[in-house]
Parts: sequence; C-alpha cells; structure tokens
Amino acid sequence: MMAYLVFLGPPGAGKGTYAKRIQEITGIPHISTGDIFREIVKKENDELGKKIKEIMERGELVPDELVNEVVKRRLSEKDCEKGFILDGYPRTVAQAQFLEDFLDSQEKKITAAILFEVPEEVVVQRLTSRRICPKCGRIYNLLSLPPKEDELCDDCKVKLIQRDDDKEETVRHRYKVYLEKTEPVIEYYENKGLLKRVDGTIGIDNVVSKVLEIIRWSGK
Ligand code: AMP
Repeated sequence: MMAYLVFLGPPGAGKGTYAKRIQEITGIPHISTGDIFREIVKKENDELGKKIKEIMERGELVPDELVNEVVKRRLSEKDCEKGFILDGYPRTVAQAQFLEDFLDSQEKKITAAILFEVPEEVVVQRLTSRRICPKCGRIYNLLSLPPKEDELCDDCKVKLIQRDDDKEETVRHRYKVYLEKTEPVIEYYENKGLLKRVDGTIGIDNVVSKVLEIIRWSGK
C-alpha cells in the first residue's frame, strides 16, 4: 500500500506516539524532523549543532532551507519509496511547498494530511509530564502512559529524561509559534482536499484506529 502521509497538530498532540504505532503496524517509516535534529545536536558539536540546539531550546523553528535539505536527504532513502509518515514537517507553508515540488519531481503525491486536534491546556499538561528514553527514543507520559518502573524505560531500563523544550514556558511559546507558522499549513492542505481531522483527545488506541482507517481509504 502506498501512503505518503503528513501528521499535523500542535506540539504535544501525540504525533510521534501515533506515528511509531502506525510504523509498527504497517511498516511505513516514521520520519520525525525533531528526532533528526536532536540526533544532529547530540552528535555534532560544531557551529551548526550549537546553532540548532539554541534554536530548539528557545522553541523557535529551524530555518526552512536547512529543514528542507534534511528532509530531502531522508526521503531519498530507499525505505521511503512506498511511503512515509512525516511527523513535525512541514511546519511552514514554504516547507509544504518545497515538499510538494520535491514529490512532484519523483512523481509522487501526499495521500493525506492528518490533523490531530488538541486544546492548548491539554497540550501543556501533556508536554510538561512527557518523558523520553535517551537510548531508544520511546515516549512516556507520567500521567497517561507511565513506565512500569519509576521513571525507567521498560525496554532499556535507563532513566527517562525530560526534553529541554518541554518546560512550561517553552511549551507555551512553541504553541504560539505553531499558531502563527503552522496553522497556515492546515489551510494549505485543506485547499487541496487532503486534510483529515482527528480528535486527539480520544485515547491513543482510538486515534490509531482512525488513522488506519484514513490510510486504507486514501491509499487506494
Ligand atoms: P518536535 O520534536 O517535532 O517538537 O521538534 C522539536 C524542535 O525541532 C522544534 O521546536 C523546532 O525547533 C525543530 N524542528 C523540528 N521540525 C521542524 C520543522 N519542520 N521546521 C522547523 N523546525 C523544526
């Protein structure tokens, strides 16, 4: 099944969690630009790595040209031929336009842009209680998806950490940036008839079922 998917929604909507589940079930690769940048920051201690780290810690957006370059490289890998789930990209209309042009050049098209709708207060509560495994990237939530043992990853048994940008003040700023820069991307996909809305407050399993339904319908 071909599925070229974009996951949209505010930070904390659960995009990464749903994308990982969908990848497990369908084999469609999950591509998170946030994860790619966190990797770059961890590995590269040069000027670029430092610049990205600073931008992320402030909750601002990495410049479009850089994000686009990174995405182009990743989407050119073999595992993306039959599909991908883009999580956290595009975040600006310029990125959406770039993606469309790039896919055009490969005679591909986005099959659906799925928007996970979640109110600001829910997002703030979720993100400030989110924890991740520094080793495998698995996402937990101290309130809704806690690890079996106190703040340890179920798989790796290492201590979970909080992302620097999940502190309340930064979360609120990221939400503001989302409204300003990413809301126009919703309209962009709506105008193309590709937007599907999913209520992001109905629980992970229910959301995943809805997404699978959308993939089945739009992948034909
Ligand atoms: P995320 O894990 O998707 O919340 O991304 C974490 C941070 O990485 C964001 O707050 C941005 O600083 C940066 N980032 C990730 N994806 C993008 C993107 N598509 N455009 C610009 N910045 C991004």
